[in-house]
Amino acid sequence: MARTKVRPPGHCTRCTRACWKDADDSARWNIEFSQGRPVGYLYPKCQTPEENAEAEVKAATLDYANTVPDVDGRQKVAPVGG
Ligand SMILES: [Zn+2]
Repeated sequence: MARTKVRPPGHCTRCTRACWKDADDSARWNIEFSQGRPVGYLYPKCQTPEENAEAEVKAATLDYANTVPDVDGRQKVAPVGG
């Protein structure tokens, strides 16, 4: 019988620490986007203060829970309330 492995969503792009959505600190990970697609993850301790501040601003102004697909089917993050 085949086993199903639950793959974590990714690893930190700097220290390769595994990232999974139920981790205690998952809300503090940064997801790096390129053209609307997630391309990497940053463990909180690997973020620079500037990166952390940028993430806080984006978390307050972008609605990550409601992404919308563009014409190419890529998920785009919409502004909060937009
Ligand atoms: Zn790291």
